Order: sequence, then structure tokens, then C-alpha cells
Amino acid sequence: MSWDVISDNVYTCPCGKSTYEVTTEMDDWNSTREKVTMNCLECKDKYQKKYFYKSDGEERWSWVLKKMYDDNW
Ligand SMILES: [Zn+2]
Repeated sequence: MSWDVISDNVYTCPCGKSTYEVTTEMDDWNSTREKVTMNCLECKDKYQKKYFYKSDGEERWSWVLKKMYDDNW
């Protein structure tokens, strides 16, 4: 099974000093997966991905502070 990269985007990280990269890959059966690479050492330390589900079932995520995440959990 092989994965093809269908999109590769670089965004500004939460602190604004560096970037993170979102790579979307698709396999032979058209299922996709997302790979996120945080390039900022500071944000890598402070932030983590948190998933949210919208009412229509669509999955989204955003960076949240690790501490904040723990408090809410
Ligand atoms: Zn950063």
C-alpha cells in the first residue's frame, strides 16, 4: 500500500516565531491521513493537538496549551 502526498501546507505556529507543517496523504483506496510536524521547539513544548468534533461530525483540531488541556480534561 502506498501513500501519495496530496497537499503539503506550512502555517505559522501558535507563538508566531516559527512554523508547522500539515501534510495530507491519500492511499490507493482514497482514504486520507494527516501528518502534522511542529517545527517550533517552543510550541512543541507548550502546545499539543486537540481534536474537536463539529455537530455535523466533521473532525477538526487546533493547537491548545498543554496545561489548559490538562485542566479541561
Ligand atoms: Zn512557536
